[in-house]
Order: sequence, then structure tokens, then C-alpha cells
Amino acid sequence: MNDFLQQLAAAIGPQYILTAQNDTAPFTLDWRRRYQGAPLAVALPGNTAEVAAIVRLCRAHKIAIVPQGGNTSTCGAATPDASGRQLIVALRRLKTIRRVDTDNNALTVDAGVTLWEAQQAAEAAGRLFPLALASQGTCQIGGNLSTNAGGVAVLRYGTMRELTLGLEVVLPDGRVLDQLSGLRKDTTGLDLKQLFIGAEGQLGLITAATLKLFPLPSAHATAMVGVGDIETAIDWLNRLRHRFGDRLTAFEVIDANCQQVLLRHHPALMPFSAPWLMLIELSDGGDAAELNDALVEWLATQDMLDGVMAQNETERRKLWTLREEISESQRKDGPSIKHDIAVPTSALPQLVRDCAADLERAFPGVRIVAFGHAGDGNLHYNVSFTRPGNVDLFDDEPAVNAIVYDHVYRLGGTLAAEHGVGQLKKDWLVRYKDPLALELMRSIKHALDPDGLMNPGKWL
Ligand SMILES: Cc1cc2nc3c(=O)[nH]c(=O)nc-3n(C[C@H](O)[C@H](O)[C@H](O)COP(=O)(O)OP(=O)(O)OC[C@H]3O[C@@H](n4cnc5c(N)ncnc54)[C@H](O)[C@@H]3O)c2cc1C
Repeated sequence: MNDFLQQLAAAIGPQYILTAQNDTAPFTLDWRRRYQGAPLAVALPGNTAEVAAIVRLCRAHKIAIVPQGGNTSTCGAATPDASGRQLIVALRRLKTIRRVDTDNNALTVDAGVTLWEAQQAAEAAGRLFPLALASQGTCQIGGNLSTNAGGVAVLRYGTMRELTLGLEVVLPDGRVLDQLSGLRKDTTGLDLKQLFIGAEGQLGLITAATLKLFPLPSAHATAMVGVGDIETAIDWLNRLRHRFGDRLTAFEVIDANCQQVLLRHHPALMPFSAPWLMLIELSDGGDAAELNDALVEWLATQDMLDGVMAQNETERRKLWTLREEISESQRKDGPSIKHDIAVPTSALPQLVRDCAADLERAFPGVRIVAFGHAGDGNLHYNVSFTRPGNVDLFDDEPAVNAIVYDHVYRLGGTLAAEHGVGQLKKDWLVRYKDPLALELMRSIKHALDPDGLMNPGKWL
């Protein structure tokens, strides 16, 4: 092992190999503090050639690699096991904005650029890179690609899959696949980049990407509106879509329990109260006042329990801060059994109703905190309860998951809409995913990574 570490140090510089526990600690615990690993070391390569050199050395010594970006995974996808034999390869030093191509509306960046830095690079050139997540200051483009990240603007712009024009990937044998073309069309065979998007680092290490840019909107109209139930919220979604088309950029919902969580941790931000809140945003390239007036006019014709329109950018930011603070507030609020589920939007009301009824039957007094991207049919659905005798909440996780996921799959949904599968949901994936689809994925894994060295212990 010492021989391996010496060769690694020679390849990328000894200062970029961390082995002391104090130095590796920030890389070994996942964001939710549920998974704790013990790596052989953490390697911090500085460019694609160094990543490739690391992968070749790992292959020669049969050392497993755990790719890591910003380590914001909520399902333990970037955490090594406890064997002390896996190498974390953290991409944070790959930070070059390689090209902002305004003529072709394309941005080429290294994988270690944070999402926020990519957004800023686009904005400085008068363009929009539309992926937006609450973790955007920390998560990296490589992590966003590997989880096929979604967020609050999928309704209009799509997930990372739709936002990517090309990738550069170090394959498990150390060769570099360079597909960084910014082409919008290419029918010469299979679209290989899509293999690596959503693969959670199990097929290779992404080192750079060419991403789609869009015109920077000059107008936003943003409102927080309260309604009585989720059926009404979905009815609003459909009518907003019909009225405003793809100017409807975001449609988020927050249930009553989630509002209570926000109230406990951000009382100043929380003047609202309704069974369901909807955060609605329109955006456009035209005149700001016109867009605002159009939404005000439409809202004036609707029934609602509560509602406010952002009058300026500060108020708009305040509404979004409320939404962005939910995950962190929930973390402070104590443990819950978390789900990142999606169903067709038309099935969301049934899911919410039936699932809550079954959970209440099985766990009387259950508390469900639900919020998220209802415009995409995606809810973050978090369950907690107290049991007599101080039983650990997570002892009941399998029973809770079975209830939630049975409903989700009966309604044609998925158990991992945007956060990935990682370690948390890998056994559930085997239970619910089409066996033929899983078999095909495993064949691809075996073809690319026959030694199983890329992020083992996850779902493939
Ligand atoms: C507060 C909060 C809010 C969030 N909101 C959202 C949201 O709205 N939408 C959403 O989609 N997600 C959300 N997430 C989840 C998370 O931020 C995303 O999954 C994000 O895309 C992960 O990026 P990362 O750089 O942190 O990746 P990491 O957590 O470091 O890694 C995630 C996976 O990608 C792999 N990986 C990382 N970099 C590479 C690379 N260069 N090459 C190959 N594999 C790699 C890792 O091995 C791991 O499997 C949220 C998380 C938090 C903490």
C-alpha cells in the first residue's frame, strides 16, 4: 500500500495526497451525517491528466475509487466504506472555466467548478445557466452531472441531462473520452455522454463538461400563495401552465408541517400560513413591469387563502431564501426518514392523500413534512414519529419506505427523482426497478469497469 501511495504522490505531488485523519475527515462524512467512511487516502488531482494517472495507478494496484465533488449527496453516494482501502478522488482543484461561447450558447467548465461559479460565469457573459439548487454554493458540476441534478427550474429548462452538450470523462482504464463538442445535433451512433450522467461515479470520472446556456431573463414575477389542499395546488399548476406557457419557470410547494419547521428556525421569514403554500415564478426576456402586471391580473381572479407578490428583487430573494432554507432547517429539526419521490403531476394529490392515510394507520401520530418541486411531480417527503420506549426512528425505516414506495410505484413514479440512489436506496432500487433495466445497466458497468473499481458499494 505504501508503494501505491508513493507512486500516487509522485504522480500528483505529495501535498495533494491526504492521509492524516484530521485532513481526510471533511471528505468521509456525508451531508446528512448518516454515513461515515474510512478511506485509504484522499487524492486531490489538479487536471485531467492527473486524474487519468490516478485511475491507471488504481487499476494496477486494484484500489477502488470513490469520486467526490462537493459532498452534498443526501444518500451517501460520495462516501467510502469503512475498509480503509478505498481512495477518495476529490475534484475540487479542477476549477477552470474553459470557455464561455456566447455565439453558440455553450459553457465549458472543469468538473470541480461549483454550480454557483458556473452560474456566475454564464451571467458575466449575459447568459443563464439555469440549474439551481439550494446546495449550489458547494456542489460541483461533476456531482451535478453524476446525480443528474434537478432543482427549482426543471419545469422550464430540464435536468442536467437536458442541459449537457458534451463531457470529458476518464474511463475506469485511465483512457480519456473527449466528447466536449458543443453540437446540438449529432446522430453518429449512441449518445455516450448520457451513460455517465446519473451514473453516480460508477462508470468513470467526469473531468469537464460543455453545458447549454440560455438568454438571461430580464423579468421575473414571483409570488407565494396559500391554498387549502394539494388538489387545488395541482389545479393551479395546470392553469398557470395554460396561461403562461414556458414562462412558468418554478412551481414549488411547502406543506403545513414544513411551514412549522421554517417558523421554528426562520420566524422572521415566515409570515405565511396555509395548508399548502405555492412558490410561483414566471420569467421572461421582456419588460419586467409587463410580466408582473400579467401575474397580478391573473392572481386577482383566483381564490386563495394567503398570498404575496414580490415587489422588487430583495423581496423576491426573501421568498426564495425561505424555500432554500428548508433542508438546513429540517436538519436542525431532528432526524426524519427522507424520500425524494416523483410521480406524474396529476397523481400527486392521490399520493399525498393515500400515503398519509396508510402511514397514520401504521404509525399513529406520524408527522409528514412534504415540500419540493411539484411542477415536476417531485416531492421531498420526510416522515418522523416518536415511539414508546425511545425506539430508534430508523428501526422503522423499512416499514415506512415500503408504504411510501408501494404508493409511488403503483402511481407510476420513482424512488429517486433527483438526489440519486447512493447507499441509502440501493436495496430499494433492486426491489422496484424493472429487472431487465437493471440487468442492462449491470452489463454496461461490467463492460466499462470489469474490475468493479469505480465507486463500489453503491447501487450498480
Ligand atoms: C441543502 C441541499 C439541497 C439540495 N437540493 C437539491 C435539489 O434541489 N436538486 C437536486 O438534484 N439535488 C439537491 N441536493 C443534492 C445534491 O446537492 C446534488 O445531488 C448534487 O448534484 C451533488 O453534487 P456534489 O458535487 O455535492 O456531489 P457529491 O455529493 O460529491 O457526489 C454525488 C455523486 O456524484 C459522484 N461524483 C461527484 N463528482 C464526480 C465526478 N467528477 N465524476 C464522477 N462522479 C462524480 C459521487 O461519487 C457521488 O456518487 C441538495 C443537497 C443539499 C445538501
